[in-house]
Amino acid sequence: MTTESFKALVLNEQAGEVQSSIQTLSKDDLPEGDVLVSVAYSGLNYKDGLALTGKGKIVRSYPMVPGIDFSGTVVESASPDYKPGDQVVLTGWGVGERYWGGYEQLARVRSEWLVPLPEGLDLQQVMSIGTAGLTAMLCVLTLEEHGLVPTMERELLVTGAGGGVGGVAVAVLANLGYKVVAATGRTETHAYLKDLGAHDILDRNVLSVAGKPMEKERWGAAVDTVGGDTLAGVIRSMAYNSSIAACGNAGGIALNTTVLPFILRGVNLLGVESVVCPKPRRQEAWSRLSRDLPRSAFEPMTQVVKLEDVPNYGRQILKGQVRGRIVVDLQA
Ligand code: NDP
Repeated sequence: MTTESFKALVLNEQAGEVQSSIQTLSKDDLPEGDVLVSVAYSGLNYKDGLALTGKGKIVRSYPMVPGIDFSGTVVESASPDYKPGDQVVLTGWGVGERYWGGYEQLARVRSEWLVPLPEGLDLQQVMSIGTAGLTAMLCVLTLEEHGLVPTMERELLVTGAGGGVGGVAVAVLANLGYKVVAATGRTETHAYLKDLGAHDILDRNVLSVAGKPMEKERWGAAVDTVGGDTLAGVIRSMAYNSSIAACGNAGGIALNTTVLPFILRGVNLLGVESVVCPKPRRQEAWSRLSRDLPRSAFEPMTQVVKLEDVPNYGRQILKGQVRGRIVVDLQA
C-alpha cells in the first residue's frame, strides 16, 4: 500500500441496485479533509450491512466507500490536533453514509470526527468495540445518569445480546457487577453469552409475545438494541422508576405499547444515539470502555476478516447471523 495505490471497497448504484467492488485508488481520489489516515482496522456494523445491500437507503450519494468506523495512524495532517504517527479512532458523523468511510486503506477525514486512540486499547481492540460497543457504553452512561448503581438487586436485561451492541453491553454490565439477563434468539450463542458474564439467558420470543399493558415487574434497567415488539415487551415488565436505554431497531421501528408503564410505573424510555456525539462524550465513553470492558471479552466476541469478505458479512448481519463483532483488517 502507498499513498498512490491503495485498496478500497467502493459502492455504486446501477438501476436501483447497489454493487460493490474492490478498486485501486490514489490519494487524489479521496474527498476533502484535513487529516490523512492509514487505516488499520474498520468494523462491520448493522448500518454497513444496510449500505452494502442498499437496504434502508442510508447512503446519500455514490460512489461511496462504506464503513462507519475505523482506527489507524495519521499520515498527513493540516490540523493542530494531530501529527503524523498519531493513532486515532473514528466513529459517527455520517462517515460511510454521507462521507467516505473505513473500507479503504487510506482515508481523508475531518479532524473533529477523530479522537486519539484511548489509553489501554490497541488499534484492533478499538474496532472490536467499534461503533456498536461505543453505543453500548453510551447506553450504560445514560442509565447511570438515570440512577443505575451496581447495588441494584433486580436483574438487568440486554436484548439482541448475540449482536455487536448487545455483547459489549453484556460484558461491561456484568463486569460492573450487575445481574445481566441476555435475551437472544440463537441457542448457539448461549455459551458465548455466559462467557461474557451473563447471569441468565432468555429466549427473545418470550419478550415479543403480546400481553397486558403491564406485566409483573422484572427488569431493574434494560439496554434494548432490537426495538419493535421486543421493546414493547420489555416496557411492560420494567420495575417502578426504572430506565431503558434504547438504541436499535434490528427487530423493527414500530412500537406498539400504551402510556400505562410510563405514567403508572414512571418508566423512562431513553433514546441513545452515537452518530452526532460530541468529542468529550466520545472520549468519556472510550475511557470507560478501556476501564470496564474485560480483556477476556475480546477474543470470544471478535472475528477478523479481509476486505474481500465484507459484502458476505454485510448480508449476514442483516439476517441477525453475526455473533459479536466483525473486524475488517485493512493492512493485508
Ligand atoms: P447486530 O446485527 O450485530 O445485532 C442485532 C441483534 O439483534 C442480532 O444479533 C439478533 O440477536 C437480534 N435481532 C436481529 N433481528 C431481530 C429480529 N427480527 N427480532 C428480534 N431480534 C433480532 O447489530 P448491532 O448490534 O451492530 O446493532 C443493533 C442495532 O443497534 C441495529 O438496529 C443498529 O442499527 C443499532 N445501532 C444504533 C446505534 C446508535 O447510535 N443508536 C449505533 C450502533 C448500532 P440475537 O440473535 O442474539 O437475538
